[in-house]
Amino acid sequence: MPQLRTIDGGTADLSPEDLQSFKTGFKGAVLGADDPAYEETRKIWNAMIDRRPGLIARCTGTVDVVQAVRFARKHKLLVSVRGGGHNIAGLAVCEGGLMIDLSAMRGVWVDPVGRTARAQAGCTLADVDRETQLYGQAAVLGFVSATGIAGLTVGGGFGYLSRRQGWTCDNLVSMEVVTADAQVLRACARENEDLFWALRGGGGNFGIVTSFEYQLYPVGPEILGGAIAWRGEDSRQVLQAYREFSAAAPRELTSVAVLRIAPPAPWLPKEIHGKPIAALFVCHTGKVEDGEALVAPLRKLGQPVADIVTRRPYTQMQSLLDATQPKGRRYYWKSHYLGALSRELDELAVAHAARIASPHSAIVLFQIQGALGELGPDHSPAGNRDAHYVLNITASWEKPQDDATQIQWARDCFEATRPCSTGGTYVNFLTEEEGADRIAAAYGRANLDKLAAIKRKYDPDDLFRHTKRVSV
Ligand SMILES: Cc1cc2nc3c(=O)[nH]c(=O)nc-3n(C[C@H](O)[C@H](O)[C@H](O)COP(=O)(O)OP(=O)(O)OC[C@H]3O[C@@H](n4cnc5c(N)ncnc54)[C@H](O)[C@@H]3O)c2cc1C
Repeated sequence: MPQLRTIDGGTADLSPEDLQSFKTGFKGAVLGADDPAYEETRKIWNAMIDRRPGLIARCTGTVDVVQAVRFARKHKLLVSVRGGGHNIAGLAVCEGGLMIDLSAMRGVWVDPVGRTARAQAGCTLADVDRETQLYGQAAVLGFVSATGIAGLTVGGGFGYLSRRQGWTCDNLVSMEVVTADAQVLRACARENEDLFWALRGGGGNFGIVTSFEYQLYPVGPEILGGAIAWRGEDSRQVLQAYREFSAAAPRELTSVAVLRIAPPAPWLPKEIHGKPIAALFVCHTGKVEDGEALVAPLRKLGQPVADIVTRRPYTQMQSLLDATQPKGRRYYWKSHYLGALSRELDELAVAHAARIASPHSAIVLFQIQGALGELGPDHSPAGNRDAHYVLNITASWEKPQDDATQIQWARDCFEATRPCSTGGTYVNFLTEEEGADRIAAAYGRANLDKLAAIKRKYDPDDLFRHTKRVSV
């Protein structure tokens, strides 16, 4: 019999019949530690997280999720919920408890006339983009195609379309949710409005979303996008140009600045591999010709070592950063929301980039300012509508013996850049150790109080506690 942890830290008193009756009613696989598929299924994107759930319930649909929640409630089990398994803090996998794994639920249904798509909660961004792009439409999702839509959406979500349309969660039409008492609810602007509000940024604290209905927008299928790279010595000049370029850019144009060591990527010349670079990723989702004119000045800046900005499928743009973020490396992130960029920040970024201790680590600036700033701070808990950029300090390495050095590099850069922050942060970029004060920074006091009240209503026993918690 598997030993399963309970929410109070004890061990569940499960009989073989209890387990058998759960398995009988469950259509997907129920994996214990001795199952051949267990090891691979428990692994998530961040290899720093090495937890062993007592049992993994691989759901095939809403009924399986209901069964898993009933089983967990009955035996007061510690529960974690896995969508794409990309959360940096490893929220998807709990030690000793029941991992409710949605990653096999990957159906997408597009209504091209109504411009909406319903996607099951185990989808990756690539799954949704693939189906919606058939109609030249897209949902507002993130920058790396293997990321799960579920955690991204319930935590807020931003990507190349956010300047045009706001947070991912601002573009939700409805959700199907299995609550802690195993009810299936629809959450939208007219039904269970409080739950709808909370799930648009408040994380996995309120229930398990089984499917998301997104508003779609005309995008592509071909856009102008790609990246331009310069030698590390030119970083100051590139960051200054980025400041000016991004501040003036229309909302159809989103850019991302990256300082790092050049990876051995085919688009970068061999002689630059292993040397510091500054790169700008750009994506223009308006008319391609307009994008070309807008990007032209950047291409003339100094002497780029590579330039792959071109007309390309939007789905290709969405996966351009994928190779830099493979599953199974060790990762540690620190992040701030920023207002306008400044020379002071440029100097700090250049100084800390010079101390990067891993060929995989990077200092990344995402531009998000635009539509999300037009809604009130309490429109959804994702809030932070004063943010113009997201700074993510992404340490990434291979060997456990390097943990301390890599983590320290990210922390030092984070502390040095703190004065440039709005004070806010993104809940989905919070690491394992970041707790109450950072969660408060992610939501703001008023939104956090409202989230705590909704939590008491929908999950009074705190079944969904393997999260960035909004109440204790
Ligand atoms: C390589 C990489 C790139 C990223 N890029 C972006 C980006 O461009 N934009 C952006 O906004 N974020 C980005 N993120 C952050 C991302 O939003 C989070 O990692 C998010 O948690 C990923 O969702 P997931 O389903 O893979 O998470 P998981 O690790 O599977 O789940 C994380 C937590 O989310 C909650 N959750 C998951 N599924 C559900 C559900 N069905 N119902 C309710 N709660 C649920 C649970 O609390 C769960 O434990 C990126 C992350 C990575 C690793």
